Amino acid sequence: MIQNIKKALIKYNDVNLEALITNFRRMKRISLIGILVSMLHIIYFLFFVMTESKDESIWRIGIISSHGALIILFTFTCLTITYLTKKNRATILRMQIIQYFYIFMLMAIGVTIVALDQLVTTSITPFLVVCTISALALLLQPLVSVPIFLFAYLFFYFSIALAQYDPLVLASNRVNGLTSIAIGIALSNILWQYYTKDFSQRHLIEQQNTELTLQKKMLEEANEKLTHLVAYDSLTGLFNRREFEKIVNKTLLEMKRSQSNVCIMIVDIDHFKYINDQYGHPAGDELLKAFSLILKDQLRDIDIVARWGGEEFIIMLHNTPGQDGVPVAERIRTAIENNKFLIDGHEIRITASFGISELLYSDTDWLDTAYKKADKALYIAKNNGRNQCVIELNSY
Ligand code: GH3
Ligand code: MG
Ligand code: MG
Repeated sequence: MIQNIKKALIKYNDVNLEALITNFRRMKRISLIGILVSMLHIIYFLFFVMTESKDESIWRIGIISSHGALIILFTFTCLTITYLTKKNRATILRMQIIQYFYIFMLMAIGVTIVALDQLVTTSITPFLVVCTISALALLLQPLVSVPIFLFAYLFFYFSIALAQYDPLVLASNRVNGLTSIAIGIALSNILWQYYTKDFSQRHLIEQQNTELTLQKKMLEEANEKLTHLVAYDSLTGLFNRREFEKIVNKTLLEMKRSQSNVCIMIVDIDHFKYINDQYGHPAGDELLKAFSLILKDQLRDIDIVARWGGEEFIIMLHNTPGQDGVPVAERIRTAIENNKFLIDGHEIRITASFGISELLYSDTDWLDTAYKKADKALYIAKNNGRNQCVIELNSY
């Protein structure tokens, strides 16, 4: 419950903050137009309005002064907004102070002009204009806009009495002024409702988009993991049997085109069961990982090495006929024999046996021929005392 209220408050504050930023930008634009309009008023009243009576003269000077005050307000607002934005010093508090100062001053000068107008006319059009412009131009929540309009009305109510001596006109204008602020409040509220609704919708879409992007990323990651899991052995990181078969099938097409054979070899760690029994299964796992690294290290990037299962590995030497694989196998065998595997503080030495054969481009089922030949060679290597490479090229 409290959590929900907090969430609503945060959201509410977000709306106000975004509205404040929008108002900040709008105030600058309105001020620029305002400077022009007020200047035109001053020019008009200076050169085209001639007065005869004292009241008319007060009215003329009053209007010119009011527009002068407006120009000062607009210029000050423009400069302050530009300065704060450029220097990156527009804090929420500063923006709020400028916003409220701006709207209060705008209302006050507007009411002063209406009051001055009462010296020569019964019209209160400028007050209606100020109310409408304030409502349309600035986004304000009702909690703020209603007191502002009420304050403007109070000021209007008393100030027009200073210049309007006809009690009936005064009463009529006061009622019309009430209508003006009612229009202002209504317009301001309608705009605020639309704005908050639009804001929530935009944020909902944004939130949904973020969630969607997150889900997409998670899905991509899961997909990546799955692809990895399908092709690689989880312990050693080498290709698994399935992927090896896939790669060989692809290579077979190439081999058929170039009519060349490649070397296949099975590598089996000697007496691996003993390692597990002696040092434990986790140590055996570590040794399998280190063993895989040696295999990879000893081979070229284009050669394919995979974990066939358990402590048995399979290698395909690219562009290498069976016979040429023997020195390669011998080199790997020696590297294994000479390596000290440091596992769990133990220095372990192992050997491996190699069964080598040739994968013929003419074979229809490589597994049934090349693998079985290599397996037969491995069997011989094991039987002959292990730690050796045996090649079997004859058809099985
Ligand atoms: P040989 O020289 O005849 O190959 O003897 P060996 O002991 O290596 O062969 P054997 O087939 O008798 O035993 C293989 C052992 O490998 C038994 C099995 O528990 C172990 N092994 C298979 N896969 C894993 C593995 O992923 N991790 C560990 N730690 N051991 C494994
Ligand atoms: Mg073994
Ligand atoms: Mg084995």
